[in-house]
Amino acid sequence: MNPSPYASTHAGSSSLAGTHTLPSYLNADHLGPWGIYLQQVDRVIPYLGSLARWAETLKRPKRALIVDIPIQLDNGTVAHFEGYRVQHNTSRGPGKGGVRFHQDVTLSEVMALSAWMSIKNAAVNVPFGGAKGGIRVDPKTLSIGELERVTRRYTSEIGIIIGPSKDIPAPDVNTNEKIMAWMMDTYSMNEGATATGVVTGKPIDLGGSLGRREATGRGVFTVGCEAAKRIGLDIPSARIAVQGFGNVGGIAAKLFAQAGSRVVAVQDHSGTIYQESGLDVSALLNHVARTGGVHGFAAAQALIDDQFWDVPCDILIPAALEGQITAANAHRIQAKMIIEGANGPTTPQADDILEDRHILVLPDVIANAGGVTVSYFEWVQDFSSFFWTEDEINARLVRIMQDAFGAIWQVAQDHHVSLRTATFIVACKRILHSREMRGLYP
Ligand code: NAD
Repeated sequence: MNPSPYASTHAGSSSLAGTHTLPSYLNADHLGPWGIYLQQVDRVIPYLGSLARWAETLKRPKRALIVDIPIQLDNGTVAHFEGYRVQHNTSRGPGKGGVRFHQDVTLSEVMALSAWMSIKNAAVNVPFGGAKGGIRVDPKTLSIGELERVTRRYTSEIGIIIGPSKDIPAPDVNTNEKIMAWMMDTYSMNEGATATGVVTGKPIDLGGSLGRREATGRGVFTVGCEAAKRIGLDIPSARIAVQGFGNVGGIAAKLFAQAGSRVVAVQDHSGTIYQESGLDVSALLNHVARTGGVHGFAAAQALIDDQFWDVPCDILIPAALEGQITAANAHRIQAKMIIEGANGPTTPQADDILEDRHILVLPDVIANAGGVTVSYFEWVQDFSSFFWTEDEINARLVRIMQDAFGAIWQVAQDHHVSLRTATFIVACKRILHSREMRGLYP
């Protein structure tokens, strides 16, 4: 259980001026996603050359907002939820990152996710900083009306720091096009003018982009193919195991299946299923759309959830939540390559075990950057009110992902480091170079 970030914030607030007396929630010893992110930054500092003197800027979010979200429930009572919006770094452009609705969301998690967005946006070289938001709520317990009220009140509360040229939210776990439409409408009502560019991942008819829904999964597939070429892994004969069968995992599984791979195992919140000869991914997508989860899919064997980590496979795609691949299960994984569709699915200890076992990890900060890349296209299209074809979007996406991955692969070869460290080296240098050129204000 993570220590309460609130208690730590308060306790540490008088010592923020000192760089060596960090509040505990900013400290790398603090377990949880933010601590993991800090450890990842520490690993790249030796490679930053003279830019290392700016590295402290990566270890602090620029701005973090905690909001109370009171709404009237359908039964007439009032419920309060807690929401967050964190802007980690805006040196290279406006903040950019999704909004997560989940009962386990914490400030530490949102801080880490916002920081990973800074890294990711710099890794694919789109002109955004990093941001992220979340509400500590289980949306499955809300009616559609309650969900809309939570979304609108949250948007109104964070409205003081978001905007098309300030910070642009997008979908993440348990948020979707419909929620983005409510966010866009709420922000626009408060501004007195329609501002389609305030969020991405919107419905196509409201300034959304073709290809956005599939973009993250397509990016996962693209970098997977690029890496497979380099290590001699044959995609058409590869066996794939996927954890999380939502936007990212579902699309990635579909694209790998279309390329001839066998998707042998899928795990989601409802259960784990296995089929050695390969699951019928289209039928499984229909089943999930109908029933809400993979549980009960007839043409597969049900596994105990923990058995997922032992499944014989060539490629493992964690595409659910963070902290899934740990020191406790990393030694059981049979894959040759792991493509991190989810954000932060692998702990640093697990990273080390996987490296020792020569399992190639394609890190989240490049592997799932397809979504934000097409979000960037959506934002550009909204500003110019000129919309591109899906073929144009997919072609541009694939080119950006291939180029970014190629550059990162080269850095990894040159420095004999993991792809995660290589991605951080490329991204941190870009962020800190911008910081250095801009200088400090005042
Ligand atoms: P989603 O809500 O569409 O799907 C989440 C999936 O994870 C569902 O299948 C759900 O059943 C499963 N899941 C939830 N809890 C689980 C558990 N305890 N064990 C196993 N499975 C579980 O979300 P998404 O948009 O696909 O996002 C998945 C991950 O990808 C998140 O880490 C998110 O931050 C990351 N990501 C998403 C995007 C995007 O464009 N959607 C972009 C970059 C990164």
